[in-house]
Amino acid sequence: MSIVLVTGGSGLVGKAIQWVIENEPVGSRFGRKDREEWIFIGSKDGDLRDFDSTKRIFEKYRPTHVIHLAALVGGLFSNMKYKATFLRDNLLINDNVIELSHQYKVEKLVSCLSTCVFPDQVKYPLSESSVHLGPPHHSNFGYAHGKRLVDVQNHAYYEQYGDKFTSVIPTNIFGPWDNYDLEDSHVIPGLLHKCLLAKRNDTPFVISGTGKPLRQFIYSRDLAKLMVWALHEYDEIEPIILSPAEDEEVSIKDVSDAIVQAIGFQGDYRFDTSKADGQFRKPASNAKLLEKLGDFEFTPFASALQESADWFVQNYATART
Ligand code: NDP
Repeated sequence: MSIVLVTGGSGLVGKAIQWVIENEPVGSRFGRKDREEWIFIGSKDGDLRDFDSTKRIFEKYRPTHVIHLAALVGGLFSNMKYKATFLRDNLLINDNVIELSHQYKVEKLVSCLSTCVFPDQVKYPLSESSVHLGPPHHSNFGYAHGKRLVDVQNHAYYEQYGDKFTSVIPTNIFGPWDNYDLEDSHVIPGLLHKCLLAKRNDTPFVISGTGKPLRQFIYSRDLAKLMVWALHEYDEIEPIILSPAEDEEVSIKDVSDAIVQAIGFQGDYRFDTSKADGQFRKPASNAKLLEKLGDFEFTPFASALQESADWFVQNYATART
């Protein structure tokens, strides 16, 4: 019997993995295996920054496999303002989960990094081999270094103990159960919330910047399938980028159009070009993923966005806003 423990199980990605485990057929490529129990935990089950509290979780469940998602995650504002907290909380969480996975002889640990681990000055498209080739962007270096060290630890634990600890690097994630905070969320949940309020209050829907920057987005349920696959089949210590292809980048204007459509907003909709745009593009290559799983079908962006918007509208009262 295998026991899969998912840390961060109450968040955007954790809820998506739970959805996949409940909806994919047992024994299928992206589903759970027969004789495999999945346990999803959030911060109410214990504070992973604390070693003893994390140890109690490992002692209680004695996992054979771990998907490690728990992290202090924030938008640009809090990442810039609380660099020490983002660094320390994530270092503590990751160190406790990695060391206890080793102590409890976990057979496979898959942790989640982020594309902000990549150097600021780097050759595009981003690829798995360039993670450590220079310092990350200054705006969120606390979070980024905390995440980078997971890869360093994975290699150290493999080389010293032979532990099969690895990591995945998703591009921008969106889906049901996101964080819809208006001030400090990621672009899609933030704009979904803004657009819904504009519709309800009959006010303009105004997006900062020109709408021209391009981004790669992955639907949380697609990422969830890929993470289940990674747990069962991906056998390298090196990270793997999980994302639709570079040529499937979407502009912020495309995102906003899709949101207007999905929310059914018919009022005044415009871009405030006096506000600065972020970086124009930061494409990541999914060549390694395609090499291993070339037939994976990503959900088309418009349908994924519609499902996410429908979930948000239906769950507005209880969603993280
Ligand atoms: P969420 O913010 O939605 O969820 C974070 C999860 O971590 C929650 O389950 C939360 O528990 C848990 N958590 C936070 N702090 C602690 C703690 N001290 N002790 C125990 N549990 C804790 O994050 P996402 O689902 O968006 O992110 C999952 C992973 O993916 C993270 O590692 C993140 O860095 C990475 N990632 C996310 C991206 C994105 O666009 N969202 C992009 C790339 C990578 P609770 O709900 O109880 O607070």
